Amino acid sequence: MTTAAISKKVGAELDALKKEVEELKKVECPHCGAHVEKEVDFCPKCGTKLREVLKKEEKK
Ligand SMILES: [Zn+2]
Repeated sequence: MTTAAISKKVGAELDALKKEVEELKKVECPHCGAHVEKEVDFCPKCGTKLREVLKKEEKK
């Protein structure tokens, strides 16, 4: 395998990992199942208050 091919492969793997990390930063809306940023207060799809829902889950 050439150096260029290896760096291309590593680059692709890095991109996949970055995508995974982005997904981990997100939470699934318990109401509609949309993947939304953890930082947002409301689900942009259905308007469910995510912050309150997540707080309740942490108490369990
Ligand atoms: Zn939702």
